[in-house]
Amino acid sequence: MVLEVVKYGHPALRRKGERIEKLTPEIQQLIADMFETMYAAKGVGLAAQQVGRALQLTVLDVRGATDRPSTLEIAGKEANVEALMPIALINPEITPVGNPIAGPEGCLSFPEIFADIVRPDMTEVRALNQKFESVEFRCGGLLSRAVQHEIDHLNGILFIDRMKRADKEELKPELDALQAETKEALKKAKG
Ligand code: ZN
Repeated sequence: MVLEVVKYGHPALRRKGERIEKLTPEIQQLIADMFETMYAAKGVGLAAQQVGRALQLTVLDVRGATDRPSTLEIAGKEANVEALMPIALINPEITPVGNPIAGPEGCLSFPEIFADIVRPDMTEVRALNQKFESVEFRCGGLLSRAVQHEIDHLNGILFIDRMKRADKEELKPELDALQAETKEALKKAKG
């Protein structure tokens, strides 16, 4: 089922996710729905907060972004990115490593808003996958950027928090309008 993606201004986006202790049928269904939602929205990643759930859970699939390559290393050896995809990361722990590099980012909770964000170019990841198996890898390129962006979501951090001040200032009218629209819709929904 395609879920509603909540937009900037929704309180769920600022909540730190709780750890998932067990792969229940409910969590399995949530993961399936999050993949479906991400593909419907043509995104490369989606965090639980973006569907209104404060959990340590994100889904990723970078295979569609052929113009922005990714790299992958497992146990120190080069590995096939496509073979790892699609992947859910549960209770992820990451260490961003390498040189800070600017790259374009968008977010499904911020439609039509894009900016360059500076992040370390590599990420070391430890997590559980959608089968609740341990996974450990090191990634670069788009996958590294997407992992860092999504794991920020799991901690209530948004890409606007990492924008250059001048970019955020320039986008302020759009950001304010989006936030107001979301809050208005929430008020209406409550009656
Ligand atoms: Zn996002």
